[in-house]
Amino acid sequence: MRKNIILKAPAKVNLTLDVKGKRSDGYHELETVMHQVNLLDIIRISQGTGGIQIKSNSSLIPTNEENLAYQAAEMILGEYAHKEGVEIYIEKNIPVGAGLAGGSTDAAAVIQGINQLCDLGLEEEELLEMAARIGSDVAFCLAGGSKLARGRGEILSNLPQRMIPYIILVKPHFQLSTAEVYRELDLTQVEEFPDNVAFLAAWEAYDIINIAGNMRNVLETVSIRKYPEIAAIKAELIRTGALNALMSGSGPSVMGIFMEEEQALKAREQFRTRYQEVFLLSSYVSTKSEE
Ligand code: ATP
Repeated sequence: MRKNIILKAPAKVNLTLDVKGKRSDGYHELETVMHQVNLLDIIRISQGTGGIQIKSNSSLIPTNEENLAYQAAEMILGEYAHKEGVEIYIEKNIPVGAGLAGGSTDAAAVIQGINQLCDLGLEEEELLEMAARIGSDVAFCLAGGSKLARGRGEILSNLPQRMIPYIILVKPHFQLSTAEVYRELDLTQVEEFPDNVAFLAAWEAYDIINIAGNMRNVLETVSIRKYPEIAAIKAELIRTGALNALMSGSGPSVMGIFMEEEQALKAREQFRTRYQEVFLLSSYVSTKSEE
């Protein structure tokens, strides 16, 4: 058994997000294109003396059983290695409560990390099943890359790998609760639904203009009503040269897709005068874990 393991836990953005209706179990039926970007939490897992300890450089996340990384460790140790203890250090770089699946990606990394650290030899399918039990986005974060996600977000179809070179991501100063945004969603108020068929055709053809042109997110209806600043950021990203701009997940992060590095750098500079969390990102290309 290894003594410790370090993993990258990338954020995700939703390039389209459609809600098909509400299910009898209370969840919404989704159809969303999810895409990993190179904004990374770093997770270090070490052998512990017993139980689960979480530490982090961030004071914004819980370090008890409310942390999704804790829940992931508890589940996999409880089912496959109940005698082991682990210490988990989360270097938090992904903005919290931002629609970027920060908690989910930490949980996914912990499942993968403990599988390796404790030599459990579990197959991807078993890991994905556990991930889906922890939270809707955890299975995607574990599978990674680009996926069309359906159901609660756990039914995943592979999409070809496509590189989006320049993404400017702006996180406004407030957080949004995913549960609250879904609760307030009224599909009759949505003006523009995504056309996922058109988006996927553009994705297949690697046609960046139509990839950007087909980005839509029905949750903007709710989040922009609460915080019109989200619409203002979108408009400003487009004014600074983005092909298009969209809120990710339930928000409030907004991303703009750029063709030219120079324009993206200029946009970053402009937003940094008013926002603390502004990132120039591109698609995440997995190199799996390092020791
Ligand atoms: P999603 O896009 O999956 O809806 P999000 O990016 O909007 O998620 P998170 O950053 O995952 O939101 O945080 C949502 C809440 O989850 C936070 O308020 C925090 O208290 C809790 N949380 C639990 N574990 C973590 C974690 N490891 N990292 C971040 N937040 C966590």
